[in-house]
Amino acid sequence: MEGALTARDRVGVQDFVLLDSHTSETAFLDNLRKRYRENLIYTYIGTLLVSVNPYKELGIYSVKQMEIYQGVNFFELPPHIYAIADNAYRVMCTEYNNHFILISGESGAGKTEASKKILQYFAVTCPTTEQLQIVRDRLLLSNPVLEAFGNAKTLRNDNSSRFGKYMDIQFDFKGAPVGGHILSYLIEKSRVVHQNQGERNFHIFYQLLESGEEDLLRWLGLEPAPQKYMYLIQGRCAKVSSINDKSDWKTVRKALSVIDFTDTNIEHLFGVIASVLHLGNIQYEEDSNGHAIITNGSQIKWLSKLLGVHLSILQEALTHRKIEARSEEVLSPLNIDLAFCARDAAAKAIYGRTFTWLVNKINGSLANKVGSCSMIGLLDIYGFEVFDTNSFEQFCINYCNEKLQQLLIEMTLKAEQEEYELEGIEWEPIPYFNNKIICDLVEEKHKGIISILDEECLRPGEATDLSFLEKLEEKVGDHAHFLTRKLADQKTRKSIDWVDFRLLHYAGEVTYCVVGECGLDNNLQHLRWCGKSSPLPHQCFLPLELDNRRRPETVATQFKNSLVSLIEILMSKEPSYIRCIKPNEGKEPGKFDDVLIRHQVKYLGLMEHLRVRRAGFAYRRKYEVFLQRYKSLCPATWPHWHGSASEGVERLIKHIGYKPEEYKLGRTKIFIRFPRTLFATEDAFEY
Ligand code: ATP
Ligand code: MG
Repeated sequence: MEGALTARDRVGVQDFVLLDSHTSETAFLDNLRKRYRENLIYTYIGTLLVSVNPYKELGIYSVKQMEIYQGVNFFELPPHIYAIADNAYRVMCTEYNNHFILISGESGAGKTEASKKILQYFAVTCPTTEQLQIVRDRLLLSNPVLEAFGNAKTLRNDNSSRFGKYMDIQFDFKGAPVGGHILSYLIEKSRVVHQNQGERNFHIFYQLLESGEEDLLRWLGLEPAPQKYMYLIQGRCAKVSSINDKSDWKTVRKALSVIDFTDTNIEHLFGVIASVLHLGNIQYEEDSNGHAIITNGSQIKWLSKLLGVHLSILQEALTHRKIEARSEEVLSPLNIDLAFCARDAAAKAIYGRTFTWLVNKINGSLANKVGSCSMIGLLDIYGFEVFDTNSFEQFCINYCNEKLQQLLIEMTLKAEQEEYELEGIEWEPIPYFNNKIICDLVEEKHKGIISILDEECLRPGEATDLSFLEKLEEKVGDHAHFLTRKLADQKTRKSIDWVDFRLLHYAGEVTYCVVGECGLDNNLQHLRWCGKSSPLPHQCFLPLELDNRRRPETVATQFKNSLVSLIEILMSKEPSYIRCIKPNEGKEPGKFDDVLIRHQVKYLGLMEHLRVRRAGFAYRRKYEVFLQRYKSLCPATWPHWHGSASEGVERLIKHIGYKPEEYKLGRTKIFIRFPRTLFATEDAFEY
């Protein structure tokens, strides 16, 4: 067959572990590119799935496709997200254990679409009863609701999730979905009050104004015109061609009723959403003492009605700061700039708490009432981020990725080691970079960056961004993964409250700009106004009241704690991984941008994963499966082999001519060290 293109030349290999050359990024990219050109967006690294966003409908998600993958051995069919879902599901059903599927990648890479495809796969293929239909519908419909309140149009993605999401799907012993539970992480509250050019606020605002029923809008004191609201006009793109706010609103309304929201719940929910819009339109002017006073009275009246808070308390909260002095509270008037800050802080906090309330409410409706057996968790979480300016948000996101990378390495290595032991195979561990050192740098008690930040935050009035940086220098300055820009450099800057430090992450170096990280958000105190007549605001603000007597936790510590418990949840489950890649910046179908993709291959730790997978044995197969596939290559095993599968495999590989260093025979599986060995077998098999 000389000169003919082999299938491998044309469409690449469907598992990177089979790549013939060493684990070079170039070979990796070539393979990915070949496959992408053929519309093959999925490729494995062992059991990890790499997915490249096609930015077009491929027709590979039909019910027929789902049926093809249902109950079929993982490697028997071309790579597909359904194979990952099915594999987790089947192992769960046979071993009664818990699983998670971690989906990561940068914004626009296709994480949320992937998680929806998996959920749909379960909804279609799992057994169900009439009684359980409602659970299935609620699981599916929780998505449009959370997307309406938690997603927004950004420059990178028209439907960008602005929060991290972990969703457990609970199954009974027959494998039917019986309930679910959602955890959300770090909703991007700053978007409520500010959007960059070309970006929008959360979808729900536009949906409400575009399609909200006349009665509802009148009751909320809103006009059906986004351009009238300060919090909606900054991005200058209320209308987006790819988004249909009208039909999305209908879906959300229907979903809310399926998820068991009462009319009163819905009224209160939109009451709070409307109050955010009213807050944004509050304007101030200066009185003769330089203190801020509210100019437009109508907004505040609507706020008072919608939040159920007395007018005078609202007015005070939006123009004053409460200071605690010797166990006494003193009211101090704000100047105009601070009053605007207080207003925005209130809007952000109200939205953040409403989102938490919403997630809790959805969880209430997904709560399983029949008792569950096992679960599969779906984690759709932000990937590693590096921008020109990286803020506290990127710091949290990248720290989260360090933790997840550590989990992946630990779990992959652990699983490998356990399998070798179980099969009685000797292996020599190959050194790999353990990023625990970076996780420690960030999170270690008393010594880590978050602890240092906490300490500084608890010195209100004294701590500054610069003093935070100095503390960092002093405590972690000589850490191998920490760098600061020399303080002397700061002198050349116009303002000294603009400082930065660099972390050498597993995925590369990132410079973080420290602006205003220190100092607790004092304006949050305003949320002590607690609406008694309106249950939603009441529930939203209550936790803050209760927490008030304790030392408040900083956002960084809260995030760290939520991550630590997430990792605990994940550690107790069997992992599957999906790494999503964004092929180009222009959302264009078919365009494979080498530079952009090479970056992601690095940031997603794919080469690291490949190295780990190849460190021991590149490939392993149950004797039965191996024999079934290749038995035609040996006259003794073809067409039937009557002995044990392991003996059959021994005969087969002797005939093919495997060298002793190329393989090992375990108790139930054959382990092949080099991909080229299996490759040669595959080629022989093909022709
Ligand atoms: P973010 O981090 O911003 O939330 P994301 O990784 O969740 O991004 P998605 O919202 O899932 O990205 O995908 C962005 C867009 O890419 C989708 O709206 C869709 O148009 C397209 N897309 C993603 N995956 C697929 C797919 N498998 N098939 C077709 N189109 C897809
Ligand atoms: Mg998303």
